[in-house]
Amino acid sequence: MNKQDKTSKPFWEQKKLSEMNHQEWESLCDGCGRCCLHKLEDADDGEVYYTRVACQLLDIKQCRCKDYQNRQQIVPDCLQLSVKQAQFFDWLPNSCAYRLLAEGESLPSWHPLITGNSQSVIDAGVSVRDLAKPEEEVDDLADEVIALLDVMKADSDEA
Ligand code: SF4
Ligand code: SF4
Repeated sequence: MNKQDKTSKPFWEQKKLSEMNHQEWESLCDGCGRCCLHKLEDADDGEVYYTRVACQLLDIKQCRCKDYQNRQQIVPDCLQLSVKQAQFFDWLPNSCAYRLLAEGESLPSWHPLITGNSQSVIDAGVSVRDLAKPEEEVDDLADEVIALLDVMKADSDEA
């Protein structure tokens, strides 16, 4: 639990990513599962396209990795996010707190650190639990490209 003076700003507004402790860093993840969807990269311009196809280790209903500790042995291209790669976070979905903070943006109103519960991620339509498809049901990734709901735009329209 992060102790916070009522008058002080929350840690994600006070600290840079590089200044956060492990617990703070981990708490930024909203559990949406979007980064665990397979992506395709355009070889010509580097544009990243998300598909609805889930990584083999993603528990789609829970939006959790089924073997987080050993994931890199099973899925070698699974990236462990670290502040050292913050300048490369543009492949992350635009709703992701790591990308938002790295780009100097605020957390969205539906983020669990603000709402105090994880249901808000589902209610905002950010979670992949109702859209992701297991790998074994897919023949061609290119047929599964999707446009993720731009929940950041919805958030700023509300303000
Ligand atoms: S996209 Fe970002 S917030 Fe969502 S699960 Fe991945 S790391 Fe966490
Ligand atoms: S190995 Fe786990 S953390 Fe990595 S992409 Fe797959 S489900 Fe996500």
